[in-house]
This record gives sequence, structure tokens and C-alpha cells, in this order.
Amino acid sequence: MDTALAKAWVAAAADAVSDEAEGLSRLDAAIGDGDHGTNMDRGLTAARAAVDGLEADGPGPVLVKTGMTMISRVGGASGPLYGTLLRTAGKRLEGPEAGVADLAAALRAGLEAVQKMGAAKPGDKTLVDALAPAVEELEKAAGQGAPLSEAAEAAATAAEQGAQATVPLQARKGRASYLGERSIGHEDPGAASSALLMRALAGVARA
Ligand code: ADP
Ligand code: MG
Repeated sequence: MDTALAKAWVAAAADAVSDEAEGLSRLDAAIGDGDHGTNMDRGLTAARAAVDGLEADGPGPVLVKTGMTMISRVGGASGPLYGTLLRTAGKRLEGPEAGVADLAAALRAGLEAVQKMGAAKPGDKTLVDALAPAVEELEKAAGQGAPLSEAAEAAATAAEQGAQATVPLQARKGRASYLGERSIGHEDPGAASSALLMRALAGVARA
């Protein structure tokens, strides 16, 4: 992944979230306050504009800028969490290009920072349930020497499965946890948006 691919990822993620904003907010209306789609749309639209003209000497600063923008533009829980994910990951990426192993390690560090911040474990019905299996797939692909296109495809599929797997879970973190057992039977909106981000990466990596 070079600077251009990182920028393309942010743009593709912004497009995907914009297209799905209503659906994401509908998921959030079922178990939260109904703002997840507008939150993510606002944050990523601002991030796309912020990185568009950014003079970056590699993918790291692009992801850092995206994360900082999410933190400053999104008030909900998801802003600081996604912001921390991308900012932490970006800081780990040095140099003009990141390979699959670099990206896997960077996103692993980002995920750890997210889990530290939000105290969510896999199975708590949060975005961690989509991101954790995605990072695992990237690590597996790195171990096999797979190209980014294949690694990202596997990660996106794992994130989508992880998001789907939140449906029968009871939320233990965030706003949805206030509903207790009534949170069962709905997909977690943050897990759904994480899957969109990973699918966007697969899309640009394939091109
Ligand atoms: P808010 O809950 O403030 O309205 P959003 O609706 O934008 O913020 O985001 C909700 C999503 O944030 C949830 O679906 C969940 O995936 C994620 N989330 C909330 N709290 C946590 C947490 N403590 N750890 C990880 N993810 C969380
Ligand atoms: Mg919400």
C-alpha cells in the first residue's frame, strides 16, 4: 500500500459509508440512538477531503490524518474508536510503502488501542467483532506471503461474517448494552461499518 492506495481506500470507504448511511443508522436505531450512519458519513467525508490534498510520503500519514479527522468530527462513540484505530495504525506505518505484514501489524496495534479504549472483547457485540477476525486474516495472509488483493479480500469476508455473527449476541459495551437482552437479534452497527471499511480496502486493492 502506497500513499495513493491509502487515499483511495479512504475515498472508497467514504463512498461505501455514504451509500449505506441510512442502513447503518437504521441498525443503530434498533439498538442505539440512530446516528451511526450520519456519524460515519460525516467523519469519512471530512477525512476524504482532508487527505485529498495531503502531501504524504507514505500511507501512514494518510491514515493518521483520517483518524484525527474522525476524532475531531464525530461526536459519538465511533469517532474516538475509529479515530484511534486509524491513527494508531498509521503511526506504525513508516516509509513510502506498506506490505501485507506491515498493514497487519499496524491494524493489530490499532485494534489493541481500540480495545484498550473501549474495553470491548470479542463477543461483546461491537466493531471489535468485525475487526478482530479481519486482522487475523491479514496476519494469516502475511504469513502465507499472499498479495494485498487476496489478503484484503479474506479480511473483508471475515469482517462481514464477524458482523453477521453479532446478530444473536447481547451487547456488553456502548449504548446498546443498556438494552440488555433486547439487543439480541440485531446486527451491531459498528461491526457493519467496519465490514464496509474492510470491503472498501478489498475493492481498491483489487484494482
Ligand atoms: P454512539 O453509540 O455514541 O451513538 P455510534 O452510534 O456512532 O456512537 O457508534 C456505535 C457503535 O460504536 C456500536 O455499534 C459499537 O460497534 C461501537 N462501540 C460503542 N461502544 C464501544 C466500545 N466500548 N468498544 C468498542 N466499540 C464500541
Ligand atoms: Mg449511535
